[in-house]
Amino acid sequence: MVTYFCPGCWARLSDAARTCPVCGADLAELDRNAFDLKLIRALDHPEPGTALRAACILGQRGIHGAVPALIARCDKGADPYLRAQIAVALRRIGGAEANGALTRLAADPSVIVRRAVTEPTSLGSGDGVACDHPAPGSRHGPGRRR
Ligand SMILES: [Zn+2]
Repeated sequence: MVTYFCPGCWARLSDAARTCPVCGADLAELDRNAFDLKLIRALDHPEPGTALRAACILGQRGIHGAVPALIARCDKGADPYLRAQIAVALRRIGGAEANGALTRLAADPSVIVRRAVTEPTSLGSGDGVACDHPAPGSRHGPGRRR
């Protein structure tokens, strides 16, 4: 089960939605790949909350192509909350490149970031870092996660 998000307002959508029930955006021509690129660009959004949500959604969707952008965003001086969210996203996505970055984030000056890297619970129910998009399907018991 894949969850999509409105490119206009980031509301969570069902796969079948043709228009966003929240902001009314037309989703018929929503290109999934373009959507991922949009999420990656949103990491640089001037509004911190938007960058946080973008990092969160990229992690939930497991977008491997986003790993370099997530790492670059950290290197460009993301605030601790964003670095923590990026750490969670990198853990969700996994892979050698993500793990290398996580090793560096484990030595981050901010405890919020270090906790996001090391705490097992930050991946399961109730994320320890700011993210108002719960992982799709994760509240319905084992075996339902994508
Ligand atoms: Zn919307």
